[in-house]
Amino acid sequence: MKPGVLALQGAFREHVEILDGFDVEAVELRVPDDLAGIDSLILPGGESTTMSKLLVTSGLFEPLGVALHGGMPVLATCAGLILIARQVLDGRPDQVGFDLLDAQVRRNAYGSQQQSFESPIAVAGLAGGAFPGVFIRAPVVESVGPDVDVLATHDDRPVLVRSGPVWGTTFHPELSGDLRIHQQFLKETSP
Ligand code: GLN
Repeated sequence: MKPGVLALQGAFREHVEILDGFDVEAVELRVPDDLAGIDSLILPGGESTTMSKLLVTSGLFEPLGVALHGGMPVLATCAGLILIARQVLDGRPDQVGFDLLDAQVRRNAYGSQQQSFESPIAVAGLAGGAFPGVFIRAPVVESVGPDVDVLATHDDRPVLVRSGPVWGTTFHPELSGDLRIHQQFLKETSP
């Protein structure tokens, strides 16, 4: 098992540390050569517009897109989810994305009053009770296509979605102290 964690910006270290705790050595992805031998991906939270720029300047945008569209499993959290959504509302006009997940996502949709909050999230199929959802200037998933399963909602909005090997959360599981989502992702996407 060799997951790659996009390490251009944002909360990538926390993902790497969690994988480390499972004795899984993650590769921090900064340049195209880092993709060699990777069999799954984590796209962290952070700032999607900045990550978009760095994806292009690092040369990672194109080869990462090829890997993702080739079916490589991916866990995309918060800004990561914005990067894989087919449609981004309130994005920057020059923001690039992978056009991978059939979902419409609005950036910063909780607004300035409530940019960050925590809330327990009931996740379908996840044993052990509610998951501590940490939302930081989170996007809102406004709609999903027919092939996307909604595994958790908050205020009737999808916060954990999955389409086969593609997992997306609007919250930050890597900042919650709860390892179950990473564990499940690793278990279900191991080659
Ligand atoms: N607001 C950020 C964006 O638009 C996402 C926030 C996050 O990843 N915590 O990219």
